[in-house]
Amino acid sequence: MIDTLRKIVLAVSEADDLEQALSLIVHEVRRAMVTDVCTVYLTDRASGRLVFRANEGLNPGKIGEFSLGRDEGLVGWVAARGEMLNLDDASAHPSFQLVPGLGEENFTSFMGAPIIHQRDLLGVLVVQQAESRRFSDDEEAFLITISAQLAGIIAHAEASGLADLTEDSPGGIRRIVGVAGSPGIGIGEGVFVSPTADLAAVPSRRAENRKAELRAFRAALARVRDDIEIVSDNLREELSPEDHALFGVYLNILDDSTLGGEVASLIKSGEWAQGALSQVLLKHIRHFERMDHSYLRERAVDVRDLGTRVLTYLQDDAQSRRDWPDNTILVAEEITASALGEVPRENLVGVVSLRGSGNSHAAIVARGMGVPAVMGAADLPYNRLESKTLVIDGDNGRVYINPPQDALARFQRLRDDDLALTRELVVLRDEPSQTVDGHSVPLWVNTGLAADLPTALECGAEGVGLYRTEVAFLLRDKFPSEEEQRQMYREQLEAFAPMPVTMRSLDIGGDKSLPYFPIEEDNPFLGWRGVRVTLDHPEIFLAQIRAMLKANEGLGNLRILLPMISSVDEVEESLALIRRCHDEVLAEGYSETFPPVGAMIEVPSAVWLTAAMARRLDFLSVGSNDLTQYLLAVDRTNPRVADMYHGLHPAVLGALAKICRDASAASCPVSICGELAGDPRVTPLLLAMGFDQLSMNAGSLPRVKKVVQSIAVDDAADALAKLPQLNSVQEVVVMLDDLIRRRGLERYIRSSQGRPE
Ligand code: PEP
Ligand code: MG
Repeated sequence: MIDTLRKIVLAVSEADDLEQALSLIVHEVRRAMVTDVCTVYLTDRASGRLVFRANEGLNPGKIGEFSLGRDEGLVGWVAARGEMLNLDDASAHPSFQLVPGLGEENFTSFMGAPIIHQRDLLGVLVVQQAESRRFSDDEEAFLITISAQLAGIIAHAEASGLADLTEDSPGGIRRIVGVAGSPGIGIGEGVFVSPTADLAAVPSRRAENRKAELRAFRAALARVRDDIEIVSDNLREELSPEDHALFGVYLNILDDSTLGGEVASLIKSGEWAQGALSQVLLKHIRHFERMDHSYLRERAVDVRDLGTRVLTYLQDDAQSRRDWPDNTILVAEEITASALGEVPRENLVGVVSLRGSGNSHAAIVARGMGVPAVMGAADLPYNRLESKTLVIDGDNGRVYINPPQDALARFQRLRDDDLALTRELVVLRDEPSQTVDGHSVPLWVNTGLAADLPTALECGAEGVGLYRTEVAFLLRDKFPSEEEQRQMYREQLEAFAPMPVTMRSLDIGGDKSLPYFPIEEDNPFLGWRGVRVTLDHPEIFLAQIRAMLKANEGLGNLRILLPMISSVDEVEESLALIRRCHDEVLAEGYSETFPPVGAMIEVPSAVWLTAAMARRLDFLSVGSNDLTQYLLAVDRTNPRVADMYHGLHPAVLGALAKICRDASAASCPVSICGELAGDPRVTPLLLAMGFDQLSMNAGSLPRVKKVVQSIAVDDAADALAKLPQLNSVQEVVVMLDDLIRRRGLERYIRSSQGRPE
């Protein structure tokens, strides 16, 4: 079973188009199950009919020609019910229908399994046999397993790699569905950045200068040879002569007479060096992997290892001479904060990540930078995007490949309207954030990158509610020293003084892993994260707090915020360390006063400890991003469950209201700095709950201010009063949209209206 699946996955990954992939699938399934017939029917998106798309054993002339409705025949029965059907005599079933010319009359037994991907019926997989017999339980289990696996393969093949990207697809525009990451529309050229040294992720590209590519390849090869020879020499004494001879074999693989020569000739025919290396090596790796003999199969590992070494040198070389197009849309399997930092800001118009979701930290950094982003676009044919025009819709999580001219023009108009609205709202910058009846709601800003500073300063924020210190740590190759940190923090504090700046102590773990301090865990969001790490490593925490305190000298606008607090003990331990730092800094001659210290409420246990925290601390700040993931048990970075991740879930809103009540009873100020604070639709509710500040990305602030200025406290109180009666996200959205409409504020809420389909 596993072997058959492995072969199918390999074969499909090599297929040039969907038809070829499906033919390989029916061939392998028929062979593995030893049946007379195997067929794949696929749902046609436009008509909803089940099309006879691939077959072995029946009339091949009917492929692509013949189709069935959802209620027609046995295949329709399987599709309509989404259930498997196993019959020893197909013709005896009431739904049986003989299709003339298909050649089914010779086959008596029938077994069909639905192919379902994320609740969507993609098609039906059928096997048939001449002999009359019920397929065994084992065979049923096999077909179900294969069809469940095929669902993912077919969904991916349909949506991406195997469709022709050079032409508009007949059904309309080529669109890939992902998850909204950072709002706005980006139009530009896709540039794929491969994860370092992954042969499978190298795109095919025309060589601009064949001779230079060939030289680069030979140079990389020579460096790998040198490396291997050094290892070989070092091990000469320790290995038997036979084992040692393996190094000779290893070196030969790269010879001109073997793989090296093949790569060179592909480069000479016009492919760039990385592409040629990847194509030749992957072909040989697959060849070895398909072999039944385990010794030979293992050789695939050697070839992959060698290829990866050569690729590393080629990529090092290419990275140092990279030219970014003016309108770069950065595409990566997993966008990291450091990848975002590599592209000059003026060249970057959009970001697409195959993994992650809108609440991954890369998306948050993109929002901070004001760059549209789509996350979780798993079906994007990333290695075939080179020099294609991409449009990304960061509000709705869609990527469009080579859209036709009229659609492109519509996207350009939407982008321009968006920019015009942003410009229009600039006038609000110096206006107070006050409701029509005079209630003030201070709007603060979230920062993290040095590049954020100008936008953060210009948006009219009254303070910084969250400075994510870890972003600067993520962009380095080692921990910054205390003095380096002091300088960074000083820059932030000075830029905003006398406005308050809330600096969060290092919040790593989860999806934020430092390259020089890797944390490998099965459940990183439930593991060693935030304050848990820094309390276990007081030397890191102490250096950071001392740097903050020193940076605050003479300014006095620092506030310290503790992330991932889940117990009162953690608060007390942290406070003790902060007091110790304060004493040390005073002893060094600084005149620093003790700053306000607060904790993030972002873990369910902290919600229940709000009152206890409030008694010990100067302020609290709700991290709605994490609170949502922990309350709803939905990983914030997993695109598969992104639909279930919702800050407007009644349980999340109930928790926010409780935090505000408990904090207010203890007279402790409470703010919110998760992404929810930047959603203008939610502003009335947050205001009514009694948050003392809302802290958000600079890009969201003007829209939120517009909403604050357009509503009355009574509107907000009304919305909050309705909350206990609402049981779903949908009901909450309807209620909030209604308020937004009544106040004529639809323009300021980002939506999917006007997008070409
Ligand atoms: C949060 O969890 O809401 C938050 C603001 O912190 P981060 O997104 O950095 O985890
Ligand atoms: Mg958090």
